Amino acid sequence: MNYEPVIGLEVHAQLRTKSKLFAPASTTFGASPNANTSEICLGMPGVLPVLNDHAVQLAVRAALGLNCTVHQRSQWSRKHYFYPDLPKGYQISQYDRPIATDGHLKINLESGEKIVRIERIHMEEDAGKNVHDSAITGNRSYVDFNRAGIPLVEIVTKPDIHSPEEASTYMKALRQILRYLWVCDGNMEEGSLRCDANVSIKPIGQKELGTRTELKNINSFRFVSQAIQYEILRQAEVLDRGEKVTQETRLWDSQAKMTRSMRSKEEAHDYRYFPDPDLPDLILEEKMISEIRTHMPELPAEKILRYTQELELSEYDAFVLCEDADVAEFFEAAINRHHNSKTIANWVINDVLRAIKGQPLSALSFSGEDLGTLVSLIDNQTISGKIAKDVFQQMLATGENPEQIVESKGLKQLTNQDEIESIIDDILTKNPENIDKYKAGNTKLLGFFVGQVMQQTSGKANPKLVNELLQKKLS
Ligand code: ADP
Ligand code: MG
Repeated sequence: MNYEPVIGLEVHAQLRTKSKLFAPASTTFGASPNANTSEICLGMPGVLPVLNDHAVQLAVRAALGLNCTVHQRSQWSRKHYFYPDLPKGYQISQYDRPIATDGHLKINLESGEKIVRIERIHMEEDAGKNVHDSAITGNRSYVDFNRAGIPLVEIVTKPDIHSPEEASTYMKALRQILRYLWVCDGNMEEGSLRCDANVSIKPIGQKELGTRTELKNINSFRFVSQAIQYEILRQAEVLDRGEKVTQETRLWDSQAKMTRSMRSKEEAHDYRYFPDPDLPDLILEEKMISEIRTHMPELPAEKILRYTQELELSEYDAFVLCEDADVAEFFEAAINRHHNSKTIANWVINDVLRAIKGQPLSALSFSGEDLGTLVSLIDNQTISGKIAKDVFQQMLATGENPEQIVESKGLKQLTNQDEIESIIDDILTKNPENIDKYKAGNTKLLGFFVGQVMQQTSGKANPKLVNELLQKKLS
């Protein structure tokens, strides 16, 4: 291909508040249609918006986490358009004076690190949703205002992204940071994180950017890269035919795996932006910003560094544990209970993550502390590593704590030397020919004897002790 793709992303992230941006109505997902509304969300005449200050704090956190300049004065603007899910006829948004500008996010590509510049972050309210699904509504269309007025930040990049992979990597990194910051739950299926992708191509080496199309409302990492990939090839075909790319808004059809034209692109003037006369400028005290700055949580990059340097984990382990904020928190709870980072890291990666198979950690019925206790029981020789695997299965199934399980099932390790020795003697008497073979050089038979002892003791004998005693007796 003789073209270079240029991509800029606009990501809408739902702020993790209990109530809406300008109304007391709830933001709980999955409520029955129109249960989460109020006069304000419905655009009734005579009502006035009241700003949710928690939403503002979350937006500031997002801005600081993305290395932006937070502006002490920003402005609310009305963005007008006509649509049934927008009863006021305008969205309250920010336009030429957003809350934050000029940030960046570092992403890790196979080819190395890359910095994606962030142009601006502005706050706005979400619109409602038209429901056209005939299975639900018959021949009618209904409107659900539950999302109307939900607080969002829109995070807009510079056109710094140059491939579908870079776009999806950026999306993943952004979601990760927003989840670490507790700003957005990142749940793409529930619409908490959505992306519009602006895509253009230009002949390689040309400075001037080509005409872009805007792909709307993409709600998965896979769709981001598929939609952009499709669009790059489509535009290349248009240019190769000697035609021009039309500036327009397109939709990704994930069934047909293609983008479709939705409408010609609106320009800012189509929206008749003007400052919202119902709302004063948003003024942030320096004190409030620095308060939020001092309470910023540790972000993934710093965490990975601490895990490798202070906890001496491998890069790989640190990376896997830090991928998701909940997993890192679980791991830290476990090592606070019992200081054995390396073993606990292995348990989290090989056992916990495998057991939950991509489900959220909250699905587990035991805590990080419980895992810490389990590993402490191995380390203080109460149970063997093998028995620990069984205890772990039981924890998964019932949520019981490990000490309880060990106690009630009588799983405590057998460490009494005399007791083990008498079991060994018994086994040796029963297997004289294997002793001869062992002495004749077939040392692999040690495993046979260990196995017999473990069987006799239902796996409870201390394996190290069994090995030592057997070797002594056989030599
Ligand atoms: P609008 O508000 O109309 O969506 P903006 O100028 O704010 O337009 O740009 C929105 C996004 O489009 C930004 O992420 C920007 O980086 C990106 N963008 C702008 N021009 C181009 C282009 N020619 N090709 C690809 N992306 C572009
Ligand atoms: Mg746009």
